[in-house]
Amino acid sequence: MHSLAKRMENLVESQTLAMARKSRELQEQGIDVISLSIGEPDFDTPEFIKEAAFEAIRNNFTHYTPVPGFLDLRQAICTKFKRDNHLEYKPDEIVVSTGAKQSIINVILALIGKGDEVLLPAPYWVSYYEMIKLSEGTPIAIPSSIDKDFKITPEQLRAAITPNTKLFIFSSPCNPSGSYYNAHELEALAHVFAEFPNVIVVSDEIYEHINFTGKHTSFASIKGMFNRTVTVNGVSKGFAMTGWRIGYIGAPKWLADACTKIQGQFTSGTCSISQKAAKAAILADPLITEPMKNAFLERRDLVLDMLSQIKGLKLNKPQGAFYVFPDVQYFFGKKYKNYVINNSFDLAMYLLNDANVAIVTGEAFGDTHCIRISYATSKELLKTAMTRMKVALEKLE
Ligand code: PMP
Ligand code: GLU
Repeated sequence: MHSLAKRMENLVESQTLAMARKSRELQEQGIDVISLSIGEPDFDTPEFIKEAAFEAIRNNFTHYTPVPGFLDLRQAICTKFKRDNHLEYKPDEIVVSTGAKQSIINVILALIGKGDEVLLPAPYWVSYYEMIKLSEGTPIAIPSSIDKDFKITPEQLRAAITPNTKLFIFSSPCNPSGSYYNAHELEALAHVFAEFPNVIVVSDEIYEHINFTGKHTSFASIKGMFNRTVTVNGVSKGFAMTGWRIGYIGAPKWLADACTKIQGQFTSGTCSISQKAAKAAILADPLITEPMKNAFLERRDLVLDMLSQIKGLKLNKPQGAFYVFPDVQYFFGKKYKNYVINNSFDLAMYLLNDANVAIVTGEAFGDTHCIRISYATSKELLKTAMTRMKVALEKLE
């Protein structure tokens, strides 16, 4: 008898990717599904970045690369951290990986084992939770709600820390809520961390360039936090480069070395061509990301306007990323035909099957009251999708 390893019993499929898969399957059957499930910019990678990749191939950058990334790319990342974030990392404190996803699992595998607790302000990005389980650590969610703009308070943080707490992972701007912690709010959290020197912070800043407040504060730039923070970033979201698979960290050298060691046994250095393309993106004037950000802002406003006309949806105003995360509790206990809505998963399935709109259940992000809508698609498709959702939700009684 063949069997999978025990760790597979508990591993849940990524719900963002699962919903994207389901909508693709329905589309292949000829059903006109609009997918607002996956968080992926619909823009193409800017031309000058693609040119850098062609150039890399022509110049034979086609061999194995150093495990933590080409030195010139790591130097470019140091320049970016200094230019945009007032952070003084050295190249040997940078590790480039196959997407920010690999950057995060490297850090978790390097730090977390049985008995270690990892704090996640909820809602959190879907993969953090599963990665912690894979490393045999214990994920502990700190709840928030739409009334609190999906942000935790310093008091909640203090109450959640135990002698076993090793790591705190958060994203700002946040996937899935779009919430953003300003410098003042980060300072208040840092005051608490100052009381607990053993806790390391992973600050996932992959949505840095999609921030409608015009300001981004890196957690590592807060006084006293640099030596205990891992700054995660990448090119997937801001530069529309999801398929190139480039993410990176800035971290204390001892931790960067550990991540390099892990990566050396799993994947080696990431794609040579993508690294050269990423260098062009990172060294470019960050203003090149503005038009995409402005398009996301217009779409956010369109989606919020249309959703606010649907009775029962509770909304806040996300300040970044490209998601809205409405509270849908009003619909729990309601029915239409054979559909009974008891939770946000039921609602996601109802919207997929009745309205042919794919979104993601909030449960995947540790919040059972909400659904996540990704608005990284055209205004035309968004308008059709919101209209379909309104019709379907108004049928529930
Ligand atoms: N962190 C967050 C919060 C994300 O939304 C994503 C997007 N999947 C990632 C990390 C991973 O990004 P990448 O595509 O670079 O692996
Ligand atoms: N970050 C995106 C999302 O949350 C991409 C999918 C994924 O990597 O899980 O939808």
